[in-house]
Amino acid sequence: MIAIVAALFMTALAAGSDDEVMARLHVQVDARDLTVPSCRNVFARDPEAGLATISFRYRVADAHALAGGQYTGTVVFELSTITVSVPDSIRWPQMSQSDRIRVDALRRAIVHHEIGHVRVAEAVRNALNPQPPIVASDIFAFRADADAVGRAGFERFTREEREYDALTDHGRRQNAAPPPLRGPDTILRCSTD
Ligand SMILES: [Zn+2]
Repeated sequence: MIAIVAALFMTALAAGSDDEVMARLHVQVDARDLTVPSCRNVFARDPEAGLATISFRYRVADAHALAGGQYTGTVVFELSTITVSVPDSIRWPQMSQSDRIRVDALRRAIVHHEIGHVRVAEAVRNALNPQPPIVASDIFAFRADADAVGRAGFERFTREEREYDALTDHGRRQNAAPPPLRGPDTILRCSTD
């Protein structure tokens, strides 16, 4: 656990509220109703009850030949389409007023966890950019080098996203994360009152 926290601290997370993150990264929200037979079924199918779909890509910028046949260019990492799927409403038959209050808090906690995935992706992108230019012996070697840099960056992105889920247990221990990831745990207490 300590290693995971250390890894997340190494990649500096940009500040801002969830709304600010959504605005600056053009996050699309796919909100749907989650209707279940009872409170206990809310997490039956999905441990998160939400999903962040993040397109983490790289491209080569400023590619050109150098004198003597060498080839150069810079790998640039980008976040393109980001969609956060979260329940817009969570219902089951005969909900009490306290059920509704708890569900509303849960919904906000799920959104915060999913926006955390976006924050991690943004932090990895910012840590990777700008890459120093690659200089290779020819265009073929350049492409191979650029692909290797791109793949390594993508692997770091997937690793840090996994570490975020491991650290927070998919949101159930969101309080264990450092700020600004820290937030309410995505736990729903089912009671009979
Ligand atoms: Zn997650």
